[in-house]
Amino acid sequence: MKVLNLQCAHGHGFEGWFASQDAFDTQLADGLVECPMCGDTAITKLLAAPRLNLGNARAPSTEVARQEPADESQQARWLRAVREVISKTEDVGERFIDEARKMHYGEAEERAIRGQATPDQAQSLIDEGIPVFTLALPTALKETLQ
Ligand SMILES: [Zn+2]
Repeated sequence: MKVLNLQCAHGHGFEGWFASQDAFDTQLADGLVECPMCGDTAITKLLAAPRLNLGNARAPSTEVARQEPADESQQARWLRAVREVISKTEDVGERFIDEARKMHYGEAEERAIRGQATPDQAQSLIDEGIPVFTLALPTALKETLQ
């Protein structure tokens, strides 16, 4: 479920709940997203730092930007990072710890992998000097691209 901060052309701010970003995009394109206060379908998604031209100088956008924490953009950044990691890594699943060790000690070819590890396992890799990046999911991955 995705909660988006939306605003209509009349400056009414409201929250929209969508199954996903795609669902929002589709519904917006089909004119299905409307302002609960005035029924306007000219809906804009508010960003943490809105680049909206609202056509007047009341500047509600900057106020909104200050009130809204950076949740939306942090989440977007996080999702982007996750997507990038997933596209660039090989999923070794449960073998993550073994594979990370093998690569570190030259027993396996260096590559970017991701997989599952417990916090303890991840910590033990870090203790051995093996660079590990832990996602908020119970997923750890190793960056060998730097
Ligand atoms: Zn409205």
